[in-house]
Amino acid sequence: MYEEIIEKIKERLAVKNLNVVIIPHISPDGDAAGSCSALWQVLDKVGINAQLMTCDYIPDYLKWLKRIPDAISFQNRQKECKQWLRKADVLFMLDHNTIAREGDLEPFVREFKGETIMIDHHPDPDEVTYRISDTSVSSTCELLYNVISGIWGKEIIDTDIANAIYAGISTDTGGLSHNSSHPETYRVIADLLALGLDKDYVHEQLYQRNTLSRLRLTGNCLLNKLTIDEHFPVAVIPITLQELDVYNYKDGDLEGLVNIPLSIEEILVSVQITERKDKVKLSFRSKGNIPVNLWAKEYFNGGGHLNAAGGQMPLPLNDVVQKVRETSEWFFKQLKIES
Ligand code: 5GP
Ligand code: MN
Repeated sequence: MYEEIIEKIKERLAVKNLNVVIIPHISPDGDAAGSCSALWQVLDKVGINAQLMTCDYIPDYLKWLKRIPDAISFQNRQKECKQWLRKADVLFMLDHNTIAREGDLEPFVREFKGETIMIDHHPDPDEVTYRISDTSVSSTCELLYNVISGIWGKEIIDTDIANAIYAGISTDTGGLSHNSSHPETYRVIADLLALGLDKDYVHEQLYQRNTLSRLRLTGNCLLNKLTIDEHFPVAVIPITLQELDVYNYKDGDLEGLVNIPLSIEEILVSVQITERKDKVKLSFRSKGNIPVNLWAKEYFNGGGHLNAAGGQMPLPLNDVVQKVRETSEWFFKQLKIES
């Protein structure tokens, strides 16, 4: 399907002495970090000079991915990031569809003069030089597997690269529980296993590591914060900055929490509303064909996938909670009209 464009990317990357920048989205998740890790390792192997840069930070729970600790952040290494953007010939945008999801890096990336290669699976992608974008795949990592094997042959993939690709597939599908019904996803995983994927190690790193404070934060959210809407099948978990502080919050500690209320039979949508220093962040999850990206886009400056979307608001936490309540009716009306 992408043979032609993969061929063009292959030709572009065959030029000698290239400088390449790799950028994931703001608040990188397993798919963003996994794809960046895998691509950077491959570029190392073929002798292409590359640098991973982030607009914020990659959370500690993803630091086991090879090369991820070497990423530079715009938050504390602005000068280096700008230098790299000035000298780079090619920029890879991984796991995001628009430069608007690059936080403080956005204005500098907009001025980038080289060529941009996007590998992503979100709807409505920006125009870029080379675009490999497919909303039907499980993850950016699944697409990246095809790009890597198309350009360099799958034999270039070793255990560390396979682990990174699988980390993205696994985290973006909730451990293969959603968005993962295409046989192709399992063909890719089968290939990765044959190439040395250490699946058990990846699972251990991703899902079997906790701190006491993280468990307590989860416990508090489920016991004291989770509410169910009176009129609509919506669960809401509001979390204050003060609570994050009390439970010694670290990036990644809330990963997966928003999915838990969906295990209640009658709940169709779960919304986590988290207070941050400068904004309030929303995470939406849904069951079946309920398009929460529509809700996030219409009212919360966001977007995303059908079953997993997010947004943000420059309002106090309670006002955002109220807005979710008030707009539930609009959202469920949309569903009736559409179905
Ligand atoms: P999460 O809830 O894990 O932060 O985000 C779930 C999905 O929603 C992400 O994979 C991304 O597609 C989308 N998303 C999250 N936050 C935003 C946002 O602020 N804007 C847009 N357009 N999409 C978002
Ligand atoms: Mn993704």
